[in-house]
Order: sequence, then structure tokens, then C-alpha cells
Amino acid sequence: MISPSTKAPRKRLPKQLAVINADSCTGCEACVEVCPVDCIELRQVELGIRGTQAWCEVDLQRCIGCELCVRLPKKDKADAYVQLVCPWEAIEMSLSSSPGRSVGASSEPSAGSC
Ligand code: SF4
Ligand code: SF4
Repeated sequence: MISPSTKAPRKRLPKQLAVINADSCTGCEACVEVCPVDCIELRQVELGIRGTQAWCEVDLQRCIGCELCVRLPKKDKADAYVQLVCPWEAIEMSLSSSPGRSVGASSEPSAGSC
């Protein structure tokens, strides 16, 4: 779980927040590279002989809802392609009023997933 922010809770949430499905995340950190506020962190657990399990989590208290971890902005209007960031489509934007979990909470991969 991401350490709680030391700052006071913000007064207004962005309309949407990024949520990572830990079961689909491989911990490749592609999303970490593009986040402008560094609110995505890699988590790892040792699984003994099964190796290490890695996934990323978003600190929802710091996410500004910019969507850069989901898709990169088009270079111009004529650009017909959407460039996704996550190779596994593990990130989605969720309305901050119902982000699928409470703000500041985190999820870990399901037991047995890899
Ligand atoms: S880009 Fe996708 S798979 Fe890679 S760490 Fe981020 S959420 Fe996980
Ligand atoms: S929506 Fe923006 S601020 Fe939030 S995790 Fe993604 S890149 Fe970072």
C-alpha cells in the first residue's frame, strides 16, 4: 500500500482518477514514466520459490486525473491513432465519486494471480 500523503487532504477531487487493476498489471512501470506528479508506485512481494510478484498502485490522494497513464495525447487533430500507455490495459479512469475503492485505499493482486 502506498504510504499516506503527509499533506492535508485536498479540498476538491478531480472528476476522475486513475485506477489500476492489480490482477492485470505486470509492474512494467510504463505508466510510472509518464505520470507528471509521480503518484504511481511499484509494489513487490516475494513469493518464495514462485519468485517476485510486482504491480503498480496509484496514490489516489495525489492523482490529478490527467489520463496520461492511460493514453498519450494526439500530436495533432489529423492523428487517427490513440497511443495507449499500458500494454495490458490495466489502467482505467474512474469517476472520483465512485472510483471503485475509497480514495487513498489500495488493492493487491488476487491470491494466486501472477
Ligand atoms: S503500464 Fe500497465 S502493466 Fe505496466 S505497471 Fe502500469 S498498470 Fe501495470
Ligand atoms: S491520471 Fe495522471 S496523475 Fe493520475 S496516475 Fe495517471 S498520469 Fe498520474
